[in-house]
Amino acid sequence: MNLEELWQSTLAEMEVQLSRANFSTWLKSSRLVDKQDGTLYIALPNNFAKEWVENKYHKNLLGIIRNFDASARKLEFVVAPHHLEATAPGAALSHHPQRMETNVGGLDLAVDPESNLNPRYSLSSFVVGPSNELAFAAASAIVNDVGRKYNPFFVYGGVGLGKTHLIQAIGNEVKLKYKNSIRPKYVPSERFTSDVVWAIRNKRMEDIKKKYRDVDLLIIDDIQFIGGKEKTEEEFFHTFNALYEGNKQIIISSDRPPQSIPTLEERLRSRFEGGLIADISYPEYEMRVAIIRSKLQEVNQTLPDGVVELVAKRVKKNIRELEGILNKILFYQERKQAQIAESVAEEIIEKSAQSLSRRVTDAQILKAVAEFFNISADDLITHNRRKEVVEPRQIAMYLLRDMLELSYPSIGERLGRDHTTAIHAYEKINRDVNKYALLNQKILMIKDLIHKG
Ligand code: ADP
Ligand code: MG
Repeated sequence: MNLEELWQSTLAEMEVQLSRANFSTWLKSSRLVDKQDGTLYIALPNNFAKEWVENKYHKNLLGIIRNFDASARKLEFVVAPHHLEATAPGAALSHHPQRMETNVGGLDLAVDPESNLNPRYSLSSFVVGPSNELAFAAASAIVNDVGRKYNPFFVYGGVGLGKTHLIQAIGNEVKLKYKNSIRPKYVPSERFTSDVVWAIRNKRMEDIKKKYRDVDLLIIDDIQFIGGKEKTEEEFFHTFNALYEGNKQIIISSDRPPQSIPTLEERLRSRFEGGLIADISYPEYEMRVAIIRSKLQEVNQTLPDGVVELVAKRVKKNIRELEGILNKILFYQERKQAQIAESVAEEIIEKSAQSLSRRVTDAQILKAVAEFFNISADDLITHNRRKEVVEPRQIAMYLLRDMLELSYPSIGERLGRDHTTAIHAYEKINRDVNKYALLNQKILMIKDLIHKG
């Protein structure tokens, strides 16, 4: 049996043991590149796959291999991109520097704990076109004249169209421009809500007042989630007034205009309407092309013009989705070390569109997470603190929020936890996913599993 046959036989057995998705994700592109003195060298296409296979399948693989080849004693896992054929195994290959996968709009700098702003969002990386011109102009004016011209500033628009980017960018620019003399704070409205709930419960309202009224620029994201929560609205209203009267700037985002947030108290609504309201709508074709080009430049990559146009033509309603598809295409291109053909790009777009149009359910998400981590869906739900289930559970909560936009209470309910646990889990993963490439990769793969069903 030569190396190739030995590996094919081993994979055939592994294929039976693993789920199809796990097999194709982790092992399909593995190779057995060499054998020396009883040590077998197994090559994986990137560092993520190497670590994963080494941690999870080492024992299985060795067991199977030894059935075919009794002289095998040890496995070594190495990273070898496909174009590097196995010339020198072992040390040489494993020291080959492996570049991190490109990630458009992904891998971030750390969030600033004081302002809660993510430095990746800037006005200069925000592509401007007819769909967001007014909002952008207002944002720029605010940076130059904080607290006066457009106060409050209310920006609304659909999912993935740049609201968070724009309002965080204002905060970042202000921080840069005025150093410490103007202190911005960014907060998702649900964070605000949970702070208020916590303060009421613990009789610490003073802390909340200090935290939110002691800033010069308060940015509240996704205000629609505040609607209908009486105590929170009350506190928000007071905060709002205190800031407003002190000429502090208030910036608010929402997925809809103030008059369409049904549960929003009248007095809050009229406050919003007293400032500037701007919407962000769908970007048109030229702007989508410009966004793609700008993202490519950011990560220092190129794509054939035909592919850029194809992506711009096909992904119309969500810039986050546009980035996702761009990432997949770049990932593919990087792995193949060759320019991607239009037909392949088309296929990638097609697949993503199919998976997006098929409605994902919470059960599918839990199933995919469990499958990915080789645990049972019950492990996610039952109360046990084993280390192996903590991360999967947090990822499950994150995905329920990220993919289905479920409320924190209903996420908590789904997993038998309270809503603060859900908030904590979401925020942790949301932060870490931008910091740790391996986590980011896991999440992308779980999403793939979900879409494959
Ligand atoms: P929203 O908050 O409206 O759901 P985000 O601000 O999170 O949307 O935007 C989704 C993604 O698209 C982010 O990665 C953001 O950087 C990117 N994005 C949105 N609008 C633009 C734009 N005009 N130019 C460049 N990138 C954009
Ligand atoms: Mg947002």
